[in-house]
Amino acid sequence: MRRFRRYLPLEQAEGFQIRHDRKMVRILFLVVLLTVVSGDAYPEKAIKYAPDKNFDEIKSLHFIVKFEKSPGMELLAEDVMEISEQAYSKVGWDLDHQVKTVSTVIIYSSIKQFKDVTSSADWAGGYFDGRIHLPISGKFNREKLRKFIFHEYTHLVSQEIVRGNCPFWLFEGVADCEAENWDSEKERILLYAAQNNFLFPLSELEKGFSHVSKGKAKLCYNQSYSATTYLIKKIGFWGLKDFFRDLGKGIPFDRILKKMAGVDMDEFEREWKSSLLK
Ligand SMILES: [Zn+2]
Repeated sequence: MRRFRRYLPLEQAEGFQIRHDRKMVRILFLVVLLTVVSGDAYPEKAIKYAPDKNFDEIKSLHFIVKFEKSPGMELLAEDVMEISEQAYSKVGWDLDHQVKTVSTVIIYSSIKQFKDVTSSADWAGGYFDGRIHLPISGKFNREKLRKFIFHEYTHLVSQEIVRGNCPFWLFEGVADCEAENWDSEKERILLYAAQNNFLFPLSELEKGFSHVSKGKAKLCYNQSYSATTYLIKKIGFWGLKDFFRDLGKGIPFDRILKKMAGVDMDEFEREWKSSLLK
């Protein structure tokens, strides 16, 4: 139980900004633990207000995509389904884990409705609570949508493996790796922070990014991605699967790091920071 509390998945991202409200996720984990048989991990507020009960839906072998009955939404749902199936194949293969249950993706054409359901902040644009919630209105960028779904679906798969025992920066970093959510601007921000000593200690990113402003959260995500790719360089991509498996067994992160990468957390962080400046 303590491990679940220690590493809570919070998130936000540019464009489709994502935020997992820390308090809500705490509630979620309690709900998950208490209602594991029913399998629904919906947060408290959403149980009272679940508009998707009246939504239309399309189904595949691995997903249900729910959507509001409004013009254009069915076509959008079909796109979401196609991308979700791609995520199922790629992320499942990369992390060597096939989700056994059917995953739900809910798309909202109303930002207000999305926020009412998820209790997200004004700037939040997505939510993951065992189901994937996507607020999509007006025009949408398919590539951005792909990154968002891959990112969220990676959380879903990761969570099944690590069972809450994962530093937040690694949880987010792996999701961004799978989403290929990296670009030169992010690299520039990270380099600037490294050169000017603005980097957050990784220990501050273990539990989530809720203590920082929206602007600084971008740096947190960049650091998460970068530290994760550095870890993968040290242990290999296939090593990541074993790393995750060990986390899922409840083994402390530091012990796995020492065993697989041969360094403790301080050494790892020092090495990673100096790699940024090379
Ligand atoms: Zn995330």
